Amino acid sequence: MSTPRVIALDGPSGSGKSTVARGVARTLGWRYVDTGATYRAATLAALRAGVALEDPAAVAAAVADARIELSVDPDVPGVRLDGDDVAAEIRGPVVTGAVSAVSAVPAVRAQMVALQRSLIGDGAVVEGRDIGTAVAPAAPVKVYLDASPEVRASRRAAEGTVGDVPTVAADLARRDQLDSSRQASPLQAADDAVHLDSSALSADEVVARVLELARAAGL
Ligand code: C5P
Repeated sequence: MSTPRVIALDGPSGSGKSTVARGVARTLGWRYVDTGATYRAATLAALRAGVALEDPAAVAAAVADARIELSVDPDVPGVRLDGDDVAAEIRGPVVTGAVSAVSAVPAVRAQMVALQRSLIGDGAVVEGRDIGTAVAPAAPVKVYLDASPEVRASRRAAEGTVGDVPTVAADLARRDQLDSSRQASPLQAADDAVHLDSSALSADEVVARVLELARAAGL
């Protein structure tokens, strides 16, 4: 099989993945796949269905009944759930508070990975937690992006959707712990990922670094 044209960008929230992934996809003319948005939409589907989040079978059934559509245009990212534009709602505190529980359900992950793979097409920058390890393990470029907890919390707080810096810092610490310790595809750097710390770098600098890696890989 030929090498997939995929750049895998993994890392925790606030590490700069979305800005960097969109910038790289725009420059290359590739698709942008925000896998976090698919888990957030799945979470909203479970919440709307009113199922108990502690019941993995009920959560998986609610997600299986939902129609999740993701835009792969880096200039116009967006997500729809059963036809509704839910881009704003999935970033709010209710979904953010529940997403780690829903994304820990293996049957939900299987559904989302199938959706994500179908969106990759003939070239995509894919951001998430398990792209280099589970979604696209043959990706020729894998980056694990991180930043200090302080920088990550202030970036997310500046987006204004979840709360002030201390509130966001507590939420990030909680999600890091849940996302890293779950059984199914935890947040983890692939063995062959290049580690980048964006704490002291601008988004443009990180984009340039990822584009260098892409060129070096012949993409
Ligand atoms: O990237 P974002 O913060 O939008 O991701 C929201 C949540 O979705 C994460 O906290 C994690 O629980 C889940 N996620 C995941 N695997 C991915 C992407 C996101 O489990 N590939």
